[in-house]
Amino acid sequence: MLIRKLFKFENAHIVRGCSTQKCRSSIHGHSYEIEVLFESNFLDHGQMIFDFGLMKRSIKDLIESFDHAIALWDSDDKDYIEDMKKHSDRWVQLPVSPSAEQFSRILFVMVDKMLSCIQMVNGEKEVSLHSIIVHETKTGYAQGFRADAYNENMGLIDPSKILFSQAVKEDWSDSDLWNKVLAGEVFINPDTV
Ligand SMILES: [Zn+2]
Repeated sequence: MLIRKLFKFENAHIVRGCSTQKCRSSIHGHSYEIEVLFESNFLDHGQMIFDFGLMKRSIKDLIESFDHAIALWDSDDKDYIEDMKKHSDRWVQLPVSPSAEQFSRILFVMVDKMLSCIQMVNGEKEVSLHSIIVHETKTGYAQGFRADAYNENMGLIDPSKILFSQAVKEDWSDSDLWNKVLAGEVFINPDTV
């Protein structure tokens, strides 16, 4: 069975190399809608796949990092990157360009890593991330699956190269959250204990 949670954020970017001139050369923003889909063949003690409450202060914190922020590609012009960081408090630096396709892969890697750290405490079993759907506009979306997220042909995503600004980290319930996820620290959601 699949379950889905919807998140929303406003984010700015430039998509270098894209065929539309406006997109590749000017900062612009989108009202993103992100669908996170989980799957399992089992139900927990509440007869659910995975209580959405478990996402608070963890998956939600990570996804909302992108809200009112600029997404920067670490291979973009160095001066541009430095200028953005100088004048805008909230930024996330990515090892790939922030197209909708790459956003779905980046978010897959982030949520997948976070999910592996969340200690299941209510009988949840074999819960896995199915896919991430990124709606950049009302008319089009990209859907990234596991095979896409870890596909070297699309650019290998090293999670340690996803960098969050100090202002973003300060909005998390634990400003060290991403470092803990990278270290594989087991995370017990405070709302569930
Ligand atoms: Zn765009």
